[in-house]
Amino acid sequence: MWTCEKCGREFKRINQSHFCIEIESVDNYINQFPIKEQAVLKSIKEIVARNFVDSEETIKWRMPTYNKNNKTIHFANHKNHINLFIGEEVLSQLKEDCMEFQMHNGNIKFDKSRDIPYDLVEKLVIYKNNM
Ligand SMILES: [Zn+2]
Repeated sequence: MWTCEKCGREFKRINQSHFCIEIESVDNYINQFPIKEQAVLKSIKEIVARNFVDSEETIKWRMPTYNKNNKTIHFANHKNHINLFIGEEVLSQLKEDCMEFQMHNGNIKFDKSRDIPYDLVEKLVIYKNNM
């Protein structure tokens, strides 16, 4: 695997030519993906921005990141799934809602072959906001 230093995307071939955009904002991040995926990512962005009230939106570790009072939420688009980093505490408190999804180190993984559970995303973000 080769990682482009500018945009952070990974490719099988070294120096693979690609549409390279440096990721400076969450909108930049979302716009690098195909239109169909952008819609899903925009919905997640809106849910996080609306419910993690007064959080600061930024890019950290090349991921959309929302910070507020030392609390952080990230999300990241991968080939076959979307990761939402919401933190161990939220996932353990709401584990009955999350049972059908894979979780690891505070991340919950949503398979793109299935519908993204926006209601659950909202519930997790609201819980984190009120923690
Ligand atoms: Zn690049």
